[in-house]
Amino acid sequence: MNIFDMKSEAPVAPVASTDVLVVGAGIIGLAHAALAQQAGLSVTVIERDHRAVGASIRNFGHACITAQHGDLYDMAQVARRHWLDFAAKAGFWAIESGALVVAATETEFQLLREFSASRPEGQVLVLGAEEVSAKLGRENAAGIRGGAFLADDLRVDPRTTVGTLATWLNGQEGAAVHFNTTAQSFGDGTERKARIETSRGAFEADHVFICVGHDVDHLFPAIAAEHRIIRCALQMAAAHAPDSTTIIPAVLTATSMLRYDAFTHMPSAKELRAEVETNRPELLKIDANVMFTQRPNGTLLLGDSHSYDLTQDPFLDESTTGKLLQTAAQVLDVESFTITERWQGIYASSKVAPFLVREVTEAITLVSVTSGIGMTISFGLAEANLAARPAPRQTATTNL
Ligand SMILES: Cc1cc2nc3c(=O)[nH]c(=O)nc-3n(C[C@H](O)[C@H](O)[C@H](O)COP(=O)(O)OP(=O)(O)OC[C@H]3O[C@@H](n4cnc5c(N)ncnc54)[C@H](O)[C@@H]3O)c2cc1C
Repeated sequence: MNIFDMKSEAPVAPVASTDVLVVGAGIIGLAHAALAQQAGLSVTVIERDHRAVGASIRNFGHACITAQHGDLYDMAQVARRHWLDFAAKAGFWAIESGALVVAATETEFQLLREFSASRPEGQVLVLGAEEVSAKLGRENAAGIRGGAFLADDLRVDPRTTVGTLATWLNGQEGAAVHFNTTAQSFGDGTERKARIETSRGAFEADHVFICVGHDVDHLFPAIAAEHRIIRCALQMAAAHAPDSTTIIPAVLTATSMLRYDAFTHMPSAKELRAEVETNRPELLKIDANVMFTQRPNGTLLLGDSHSYDLTQDPFLDESTTGKLLQTAAQVLDVESFTITERWQGIYASSKVAPFLVREVTEAITLVSVTSGIGMTISFGLAEANLAARPAPRQTATTNL
């Protein structure tokens, strides 16, 4: 097929009107759109690229439910239900895989025992070294002290999920997804609707959700600055699974325990940080979260490091990837991996809060997950935002 012979090249109607308009076909935008459609509203999604290639396809596909803390945990549990529901409806791959946290030292193991004791029975199962090895598909892997199984965690295939969801949504009554359509400005439309100017015509909607991931500053620089949003870049690699092993759960390690709030609230968290500082300072230097998941085709997705800046260089530092791969290889007790791909992922990051939800006007809500848990909370955040959406506005509001 001629690549220019695409439906998305056609101009959109001069002014297309809809109940809800979503900007961005990553998981956050699509979660808002899918739930709005399910609620009986007409929905239009616009996406600047010809297919979504943002954070939502570059990640591990791990709905990291159990390691969330407080309100985020509740939101993640809501998301979990919707993930399973939409996987069944839209036909994307999702699995109640759980997650396995591997402990290599007594301090790591102690923290996991504390975590297990802090949660309802059955949610966090403490495992011995042999059980951990078995879940990794290895026999008596060296260097494992024990571990924990987080039963509620899910996995999806990040490479295919948002594409499948967008295609499914586009086929639903009252829903349309337009690719190759860039939102450029926002303001008031006719009959008290919001109006969006795009590269392919104008749209009007009763309510607009702007879900542009880390590019908040491209559209709303003042809000991005106020919320202190910067870009977090992560280095990732894909590899053949050693001996074609199947590993069902997402696999987390000590550096994961330093990141997720549910772990950092445990009594042994301080001691664990000190231990990693002493034994593996190179991992703290690259702000590592050494973890991996397996795609349905058997490929392992391995990562990740974190570096923070307003604009990110596109270059991957080989020594950073080397440290991540070496640590993951130790967990699986293998010499090395056969790497098939390397890439950089970027997500929005802010120390102010894990996500931003801002009413730009009564009819326009800006949403960005400003931490590395967008897959985990996506549908939960979307459900809350749709519920908080004011009724179609009664009075005109400020032009932007
Ligand atoms: C390497 C990596 C690993 C991660 N691992 C996990 C994980 O395992 N679990 C987890 O919960 N989270 C994880 N995350 C975080 C998660 O991927 C993100 O939080 C989430 O994908 C953000 O979704 P999004 O829809 O906001 O952004 P994106 O997926 O980036 O989508 C935003 C979309 O908006 C579009 N857009 C931007 N500007 C415009 C415009 N003006 N007009 C139209 N469209 C526009 C973009 O083209 C893009 O498609 C990871 C992130 C990375 C990078």
